[in-house]
Amino acid sequence: MQKRVLITGAAGFLGSHLCDRFIKEGCHVIGMDNLITGDLANIEHLFKLENFEFYNHDVSKFVHVPGQLDYILHFASPASPIDYLKIPIQTLKVGSLGIHNLLGLARAKKSRLIIASTSEVYGDPAVNPQPEEYWGNVNPVGPRGVYDEAKRFQEAMTMAYHTFHGLETRIVRIFNTYGPRMRLNDGRVLPAFIGQALRGEDLTVFGDGSQTRSFCYVDDLVEGIYRLLLSDYAQPVNIGNPDEITIGQFAEEIIKLTGTNQKVVYKPLPQDDPKQRRPDITKAKEILGWEPKVNRAEGLKITYEYFKTLSKEQLDKIEH
Ligand code: NAD
Ligand code: UDP
Repeated sequence: MQKRVLITGAAGFLGSHLCDRFIKEGCHVIGMDNLITGDLANIEHLFKLENFEFYNHDVSKFVHVPGQLDYILHFASPASPIDYLKIPIQTLKVGSLGIHNLLGLARAKKSRLIIASTSEVYGDPAVNPQPEEYWGNVNPVGPRGVYDEAKRFQEAMTMAYHTFHGLETRIVRIFNTYGPRMRLNDGRVLPAFIGQALRGEDLTVFGDGSQTRSFCYVDDLVEGIYRLLLSDYAQPVNIGNPDEITIGQFAEEIIKLTGTNQKVVYKPLPQDDPKQRRPDITKAKEILGWEPKVNRAEGLKITYEYFKTLSKEQLDKIEH
């Protein structure tokens, strides 16, 4: 029997790649998105397919989908700091009301549900790398709190449905992921730097550039999510690439990759910006037999090629 899969946030960066993957696996995919940060261009190639449907809907409002659903992937949420600072209430709602609606739907349809959680549940971490057992260091009332606490609530709600209602649930804690279809103006560091290089602007490093991140290529992430969904493991699992780099070094890599003559300029570090971030992926390795395969040099090259295909109008459409 063909599996029927609901993917929320389908028109976004990760959601669109997940739609592609589940279509490739022969599933019937129902994409749902209200396009608040997404773009239909990411999934327009799927519209001609018989096994793809799209619902333009805000999942923070009651969600109705006719027919059987085997899997629900809840990926709808603003995800970049400038997005969730601009729409904080919607961010809190999709992580609370949204997940409640989808858990209700999963119960009614007897579906297995996986949620997109995040390394942000660890906040500005006091331990590095971060294992799943680390409870985090989050400022609930700081600017990032709207995202971090929504995701923490989402995990708690999902676990409650698992233990109280016996619902089949999975929790993936995603670390910084990059690849084609990232929005050029979403403020995340990779599109910011590549966009600046392509427009001939200086690269803006926030703080002194000593803060670290660990970047995972999107295909690796999608493989990890797929394996976790099919596993029988209900506790949170980190999926990310442990190859850690400072943001200053990352800017130098982008300068080399793009061949830009521009230099690095320094801007103030945003409040509560985590100083270090690196996933401990022991669990993903042991439970899922998963580890990342694409190194940063390869992944960045593919991503740069994608950004080069964008038009000048798209490149110039930047909100600072
Ligand atoms: P994105 O902004 O590209 O995609 C999010 C999508 O969700 C957008 O298409 C948006 O329109 C949609 N959306 C938001 N609120 C909605 C609502 N109320 N109803 C319906 N649709 C809604 O972001 P992304 O990078 O693809 O992130 C996808 C998910 O993965 C998010 O939940 C995010 O928190 C999580 N995540 C991403 C990363 C990463 O590095 N990309 C890291 C950690 C977690
Ligand atoms: N950053 C930067 N310049 C930019 C955009 C981001 O130096 O133009 C920094 C940001 O302060 C953070 C890191 O890059 O330390 C990653 O930021 P991003 O928004 O991509 O993700 P997150 O902070 O959520 O990991």
